Order: sequence, then structure tokens, then C-alpha cells
Amino acid sequence: MSVLASFRDSSRAAPLLERIRARETGPVALMEFCGGHTVAIFRSGIRSVLPEHIRMLSGPGCPVCVTSNMDLDRAAALAKLPGVILTTYGDMLKVPGSRESLAQVRAQGYPVEIVYSTLDALRLAGQHPDKQIVFFAIGFETTAPAAAAAVLQARARGLKNFSICSVMKLTIPGARALLDMGEVRVQGVIGPGHVSSIIGADAWRFLPDVYRVPVAISGFEPLDILASIDALLAMLEKGNADLANLYSRIVKPGGNTKAWGAVTEVFETCASSWRGFGNIPDSGLALRPQYAEYDAEHRFPIDIPDSVEHPACRCGEVLRGVIEPVDCKVFGTACTPEQPLGPCMVSSEGSCAAYYNFHQSTHTKTRHATEQ
Ligand code: SF4
Ligand code: SF4
Repeated sequence: MSVLASFRDSSRAAPLLERIRARETGPVALMEFCGGHTVAIFRSGIRSVLPEHIRMLSGPGCPVCVTSNMDLDRAAALAKLPGVILTTYGDMLKVPGSRESLAQVRAQGYPVEIVYSTLDALRLAGQHPDKQIVFFAIGFETTAPAAAAAVLQARARGLKNFSICSVMKLTIPGARALLDMGEVRVQGVIGPGHVSSIIGADAWRFLPDVYRVPVAISGFEPLDILASIDALLAMLEKGNADLANLYSRIVKPGGNTKAWGAVTEVFETCASSWRGFGNIPDSGLALRPQYAEYDAEHRFPIDIPDSVEHPACRCGEVLRGVIEPVDCKVFGTACTPEQPLGPCMVSSEGSCAAYYNFHQSTHTKTRHATEQ
């Protein structure tokens, strides 16, 4: 059996589930901060096999979803500047901004190109020396090393037509903001696997040390997630708050210092605007002054009108774990993956899309039952 298959082996899930069911914790609410975990939990059906007293909450872990309308509006305005080609990841195109999505901007004839990595954007800069290639960089600590590498490469190659509009965010200040708001009681956290491989498992120690909330760093296979849930319940059962790194095959205590070193060489922390949270101090990555020539905000200063949210969209509350997607009145009716009103229905890691794609029958049953 391959290593991957062993993490999907259903015969190994049964004893884990039995242990989870036998834990005497009383009602608990656990949160996954990572969009990848949200999708994995739905796709594998974990929610439906957990005992009812274990509630899984989804947090602000989808980088597309937490990008604010203000930042989307800025990207749209950049795309309309003469001579600019705006590049970004595919998921961003369908996200509705205050007035239009990037897909709509593209439909008006402005150049918006989908890229799969920052290096693709760099390649475009080499191919179009007469154009300014702006990369709209969203993402967490996982995507930041590639953005830093692109800037370093651009400098090494002497490229003058490449810049980054950075709205990248840091997960730790986001997690702290969520806990400090105190709107939801989070009793245990499933820590993000990819992010932790960069910043290190130890970066999450603040959860048990400061907030007395246990954390289990988890991989993305069903057995990884079940083992993490069990580890959190075991700590809660004993009244312990600690950090368990259950993804040690990828995540080291100190993370990837080389990758993070490149990030801190090019970027510094700044306040960043998160959907549903507002401005969170020191939660974003901005280019350092010595790399200002690669900073789109510095090179192309633009004024954008005040941003507005769709009145029906409750993505902010979904991202804070305050409501579940099915609590949004337009879920599955006016808002679907084909016609999304908010980013959580667009992104492949968004909670609303995960509910819609993998939980639809349960949702329909629940809604019908509550409507009777
Ligand atoms: S990049 Fe990885 S760790 Fe970060 S939110 Fe997505 S799946 Fe989770
Ligand atoms: S269902 Fe649609 S409108 Fe409602 S919160 Fe989700 S993405 Fe936003």
C-alpha cells in the first residue's frame, strides 16, 4: 500500500472514530483555520460521521474569501490602466467586487490574465517588454515565498515591467483577531498544514500558551484529520491545552527558514483589510521600501471609490465561524457556484462552495425539515 493510500484506508478510520465517539468531552466546537481542511472534511464525509456533540467550525482560511472588496476594487482599477496586464489566480476572476468582478473587467476588453504561479507572471513580463505586468498577489504564508522569489528574480534579470499588488496575509494575526473578537467559542484548532510547513509548528504555540486552546497541526487526508480531532478531544478530556504536530512528515517545529528568509528579505508586515474582520494590524505583507520598484501600489497610485458589500452576502460571518453557509438566506438559491454573490461560493476552498458541492443533500434535507 502506498503512503498516500494508507492515509485513506477506511479500515484504519473505524478504530479512530470509535475512540472519538468514546471521548468524554461534552459538547465541543473545533475550528479548522484552513480552506484545504474545510474541503477535505466535506469531501471525505467526516462531518456526517462525527457524533452530534462535536461541532466543526470553518474559519478564515481561504485566501480568496478573505480578500476584501476594497482590494478587489484596486485590482480592477489597475487592470484598466493603459499598458497594464493584470495577472492573478483563476479563482479571483469570479469574485464579485463592489461593482464588478475581474471577469467582468476582462469582458470589457481589459487584459486580465490567469496565471498558475508568480513565475508565470514573470514569464509574461519577459514576453511583453512593452507592457507592465502586475501580479495581484493573494494568499497566506504558503504563497509568499514564490512571490518573494519572483521579485528577487525580476531584480536579478533587470526586469523593469513587473510589479506586485500584494494583499497577502498572515494567518497568525488573523487567528488572534478571531479569538480576540470572542464571538464564537473555539475550544480546539486544527492547524493549517501547508502554512505550518513554512512558519513552523511552533508558531501556533500561542494558542495553548495565551488562549488555553489546544491545537493539532494536521495533514489533509481523512485519517490525518480524524487523528487531529482525536488528539484535540484527548487534550480537552484531560483539561490540557497543548500543541500536537500530527503532520511532522511535512511540518518541522521551526518551519522552512530558507523560504521564510526570502519572504522577510522582500516583504515587511503591514495592516491588512480582511473580509469580515476589517483592518488587522501587522497581518499583511507589503514590499519593503528597497523593493518599491516592484510594488504596484507605489508605481501606480490610484484612487478608488469606497467599497461596498452585497447586502445579502454574509461571507464575513461565515469566515468568522459565526454562521454556517446554510444560514445565509441566498445560499443555494440566489447564490450558487455558477452565479456566486460572495467569494465563499467562488473559491475551491470556500466554505459555501464546500457546503454546496459536498453537503447539498444534507442541506436540502435540513432546510426542508426546518421549513416544515
Ligand atoms: S494554502 Fe494550504 S494551508 Fe493555506 S489555506 Fe490553502 S490549503 Fe490551507
Ligand atoms: S451563500 Fe453566497 S452570499 Fe451567502 S455567505 Fe455564502 S457566498 Fe456569501
